[in-house]
Amino acid sequence: MKQHIAIDGPAGAGKSTVARGVAKKLGYLYLDTGALYRALTLHFLRKGLDPGIPNLENVLSEVNISLESSGDGTKVVLNGEDVTVLIRSPEVDRMVSRVAESKGVRDFLRGIQRTLALSKPSVVEGRDIGTVILPEADLKIFLTAKPEVRAYRRWLELRARGNTVDYKRVLKNILERDMIDSSRQHAPLKKADDAVLIDTSFLTIEEVIHKIYTLAVGEGNGRCGD
Ligand code: C5P
Repeated sequence: MKQHIAIDGPAGAGKSTVARGVAKKLGYLYLDTGALYRALTLHFLRKGLDPGIPNLENVLSEVNISLESSGDGTKVVLNGEDVTVLIRSPEVDRMVSRVAESKGVRDFLRGIQRTLALSKPSVVEGRDIGTVILPEADLKIFLTAKPEVRAYRRWLELRARGNTVDYKRVLKNILERDMIDSSRQHAPLKKADDAVLIDTSFLTIEEVIHKIYTLAVGEGNGRCGD
């Protein structure tokens, strides 16, 4: 049985729903590392700060972010305030990849992620989990899907939350984030050499969860229907 499962991939590939589903099926901790970058981004937005500022350490020293399991999801707490909903706004979407480019930010969040991930058997999702945060993970998955499919999923998700944003803008944001995340200097989004690649474009959530679950418990070959 695999104890630490890393799930990486671009925005909208289905990582959160899949990682949460796999964690639930295995009874493992679910860790959404993007939520940490989003909470920090909200802090920067509120303070009107640019992630490129020289005295970043001073800003980071006043930030306390924690993730708490709540029901099926994760409650995100920023300096004592529940920001779970606020960190999913289009404003945070637009700025988060710029914040995540900063080496200071990545170093600050690396320790938090490792401590949480190694505290229990866990399913950890992000961009650099298999490559940088948990290179020792026993199972690494790289989830992807066509950009149009990912944008459509994200658009549906935003609409369900009452955000009437245009599909084309969502697609543009996804493509921009892909570009920044994949080309940044520090810990870029990329598949670890030993990760299993799964294209979710034409798979249901249940099929993807089943496939990863099967790989985690070491049964069959991970094909849906095994
Ligand atoms: O997963 P989510 O879309 O919420 O992540 C938001 C952003 O946080 C990503 O676009 C990426 O810039 C950054 N991120 C990262 N490394 C992670 C998780 C997220 O750089 N492990």
